[in-house]
Amino acid sequence: MNDFEKVNEAVDIIEICENNNINFNKIHNNNYIGKCPFHDDNNPSFSVNKEKKVFNCFGCDNKGNAIQLYAKLHEISDYEAMKILANKYEVNINSKSFNYSKETNKEKKNIKKIYKNIARIAHNELLSNNNIAYRYLKDRKIKDEIIIRYELGYLNDKNNIYDQLLKLGFGKNEIYKTKLFNNRKFILNNRLLFPIFNYKNEVIQFSGRDLFDNDTAKYINSRNCLINKGNCLYNIENHDGRQKHKIIVEGYFDVLALAQSGINNSLAIMGKDITPAQYLKISNLTKKIILWLDNDKPQVVRATYKAYKELVDRGLTVKFVYFSDNEDPYDTCLKCNFQIKKLLKKSVINFDTYFLKTYEKLIDTSSIFLNEELSDLINEIASYCTNDELLNIFNSIERKHSIKISKIRNKICNYNNKTLESIGFKRFDEIPNCYYYYKKKYYVYALEIGELFHISRLPTKKEIKKYNVLSNRIIEEDNRIIIDKTCIEDVEKYIENLI
Ligand SMILES: [Zn+2]
Repeated sequence: MNDFEKVNEAVDIIEICENNNINFNKIHNNNYIGKCPFHDDNNPSFSVNKEKKVFNCFGCDNKGNAIQLYAKLHEISDYEAMKILANKYEVNINSKSFNYSKETNKEKKNIKKIYKNIARIAHNELLSNNNIAYRYLKDRKIKDEIIIRYELGYLNDKNNIYDQLLKLGFGKNEIYKTKLFNNRKFILNNRLLFPIFNYKNEVIQFSGRDLFDNDTAKYINSRNCLINKGNCLYNIENHDGRQKHKIIVEGYFDVLALAQSGINNSLAIMGKDITPAQYLKISNLTKKIILWLDNDKPQVVRATYKAYKELVDRGLTVKFVYFSDNEDPYDTCLKCNFQIKKLLKKSVINFDTYFLKTYEKLIDTSSIFLNEELSDLINEIASYCTNDELLNIFNSIERKHSIKISKIRNKICNYNNKTLESIGFKRFDEIPNCYYYYKKKYYVYALEIGELFHISRLPTKKEIKKYNVLSNRIIEEDNRIIIDKTCIEDVEKYIENLI
């Protein structure tokens, strides 16, 4: 039996999973089924056999033994994983006798060395003369200290980086394997270069930002030869175990601006959605998260809520940052500079407050009549709320709009069989989930959003003149009530009072 077999036999693969926040929905004999940590898995398709100590994902085809699982989860080589697990499960190994995957390890080490050199050369180039990348950073108010700390770089068209690498002793074949060159030309030429580091402070990816605002992609990434970019978190190299929480932001400039304001515990997801691998990494770093992501469009709000749910499911405490003017962390930091710490403290809110704020904002900025996407979104988000949270949200709406949402407290137990149609509402033919009621000169409409009805009175002709609003819009001064579907009699009362 070789060392790998010995160690694999000693480890508990279920324990490895549980320590890495992989939860199982179903257990049948020795087979454990759960959500896959390696792809965006809605139907649990990740299966682990406790006895055979193997895993297999039917969704993304990742499979292997316990050591390979550990290696994949921590993005280390199988050999390193084996050594760590041997230590943890107290298995005596004679690792010198075995050179498993030494070849690929050597190749990866070489790529890392080349990356490191490119980052260094490009960084010196950026600082050495008044080039477009340096001027761009100055325009965006990034200080030298930050440029240096994050080793930002730049290489123009005339660079001879390929030759420089050859001079440093790297072979043509080794350079070719970095996938950073087309013939001898560096693929991220003329872009602001962000080296992306792992937690060991090794460069493992590059991202290049367009500096000319032409039609090409804003960011181009190096190809995945060490690690998928989706597995990386920008700024992870500055992780410090003493940090109480992590602030999750979208982009590089958010991280830079926060660092410039003295806030070093941010992590950028480098996109709109957090990937499964990033969830895993985040939950291994901390148990407290503050999400500071965009909230101006339904699709980005959805991404934020999805992140919330995923992180809470992994046992993390999640809070939100919300500024009403919807500026991203970069803009906010630049505006208030060293005040940001104070401001941030005041702007961190819980889920229910965040829900309320984004909800009202989306309602205000959307034509809620026809925006099916919005109703889908609210429906989806409301399903993340506990009853207590929903209650808080409704209480706030009541207070803010001086309206009464009665019986919401009895939402669950108070179901009766009345429908809107049974009290005189008619369906709009063309608009799904929408009803109207007409009596005398008043129209009342109801929009069905998930478990709730949003009831509002349409303006009369006189009011339309007065407020100068279009007839298909809600007048802002108008009362709006939101009720649970189980409380139709409240709608009846509302109409009685109204008419
Ligand atoms: Zn998978």
